[in-house]
Amino acid sequence: MFICDNCNAVFSEFDFPADKDVCPECGSHAFDEAVQCRGCGEWVPRSEAWGFGSRLRCKSCVSERSEDIDFLVSATGDTEDVEIPMLYRYIFSDDDIEAILYRAAKEKLARGDFDASDYIDDYANDIAEAMEKEE
Ligand SMILES: [Zn+2]
Ligand SMILES: [Zn+2]
Repeated sequence: MFICDNCNAVFSEFDFPADKDVCPECGSHAFDEAVQCRGCGEWVPRSEAWGFGSRLRCKSCVSERSEDIDFLVSATGDTEDVEIPMLYRYIFSDDDIEAILYRAAKEKLARGDFDASDYIDDYANDIAEAMEKEE
């Protein structure tokens, strides 16, 4: 299947006008391979779908979980070393620090003070894969 960059028409190889590689709806030459989102069933360009094999999801389905901190933390899992002033290391345990950050992140999300779209873009494959495992 293919999807037109110009008009979003979805068509198969049999829909092409004879001998012409153009969108049958609008005549544009710009189109991509189309894949069907496993979440919502929409056809989207392959470059805008995440996951593996036949289990791809579109951006809006992957973004559905953008406020679910527990899910995102377990889905993406990455950690990064940060420098924490020594006084805090004496006052707080690792678990304390994680609990504090968790609470602060929840508050920030609830205030609408964090735009998760960059994070979703960077980790879309991991998120799509974790959604797949949940099913
Ligand atoms: Zn078109
Ligand atoms: Zn979708």
